[in-house]
Amino acid sequence: AKENGRNSYQFFTDELNNRAHTRLALENELRRALTRREFSLHFQPQFDLAHRRLIGAEALLRWNHPERGMIPPDQFIPIAEETGLIIPLGAWILHESCRIAQGWRDEGLPDLCIAVNISALQVRRGQLDSTVVEALGESGLPARLLELEVTESALMTHQAHVSATLDAIHALGVKLAIDDFGTGYSSLAYLKRFKLDKLKIDRSFIRDLPDDAEDAHLTRAIVGIAHHLGMTAVAEGVETKAQEAFLSELGCDLAQGYLYARPLPADAFRQMQIDLGLQ
Ligand code: C2E
Ligand code: CA
Ligand code: CA
Ligand code: CA
Repeated sequence: AKENGRNSYQFFTDELNNRAHTRLALENELRRALTRREFSLHFQPQFDLAHRRLIGAEALLRWNHPERGMIPPDQFIPIAEETGLIIPLGAWILHESCRIAQGWRDEGLPDLCIAVNISALQVRRGQLDSTVVEALGESGLPARLLELEVTESALMTHQAHVSATLDAIHALGVKLAIDDFGTGYSSLAYLKRFKLDKLKIDRSFIRDLPDDAEDAHLTRAIVGIAHHLGMTAVAEGVETKAQEAFLSELGCDLAQGYLYARPLPADAFRQMQIDLGLQ
C-alpha cells in the first residue's frame, strides 16, 4: 500500500507540474500573441425573427497559435483575466471590431450592430469608457452600432465605478446587453440598477426547446421580463427550425446560432452580407 501511495503521489506531482508548465507556457505565449498578431475575430450573425433580416453580429475572439493551431476562447480567456492581460487584449478587440464594422459600412454594406464581449475585469479595472470612446473615434463607427455584452457577474457589484462606467458608455449611445442571462445569479436587482438594452437568453435554456416543458416556461418568462423592462430579447444557440418557430411564437426578437451560421472570419462574413443582399 505504501509503495502504491508513493506511486500515486509521484503521479500526482508529475501531473501537477505538467499542468503548471502548460499553464505557464500558455501565459507567456499569450503575452506575446498580441504583438505577434495571432488573434483574430470571427463574426456570428444575429437575425430579427419577425422581419427575417440580418441586423447584427457578435464578435468572437480566436487565437491562432503557431504550433497548437486554433485555441478556443474558453481555454485562454480565463488566463487572460487572471493575469490582467484581458485589459490590453480587450482594448484590441474593441478597436478591431469597430474598425471591421466601419470597413463594411465604407463598402456600402447595410448598417449592422456589432456586439463585443466584455470581461468583468474590463468593467471593474480598465478605463472602459475611454477605450470605447477611442475605438469609436478612431474607426468612425457611430456609437449606436456598437453593443457591449456583459455577464451578470460583471454587474453583481456595488462598486460605484462600475455603474458610472456603464452609464457613461450608455450615454454615448452604445447599447448594453446582458449575456448568458439566467445562469449567473438569482438576484435580479441589477436589472433595475443598470440601463440595459438587450437580454441574451443563455444557450442552456434554448437547447431542449420546444419539447422540454420547463425550459419552454423559463424561456417564455425570460422573454416577458425583457419586454416588460423595455429590453430586446435575444436567443443564443439556436440550432433547429423547431427552436426558431417556438421562439418566434413567444415574440423573442432576435436569434443567433448554428441554424443561421457558425461564427465566420471577417471575409466570409462580408461575403455572407453580400449574398444576403443579392437574395
Ligand atoms: P458567449 O459569449 O456565450 O458566446 C457564444 C458561444 O456560443 C460562442 O463560442 C459561439 O461560437 C457558440 N455558439 C454560437 N452558436 C451556437 C450554437 O448554435 N450552438 C452551440 N453549441 N454553440 C454556439 P466561442 O466563440 O467558443 O466563445 C466562447 C466564450 O468565450 C464566449 O461565450 C465568451 O464568453 C468568450 N469570448 C469569446 N470571445 C470573447 C471576447 O472577445 N472577449 C471576451 N471577454 N470573451 C470572449
Ligand atoms: Ca456573448
Ligand atoms: Ca452568451
Ligand atoms: Ca457562454
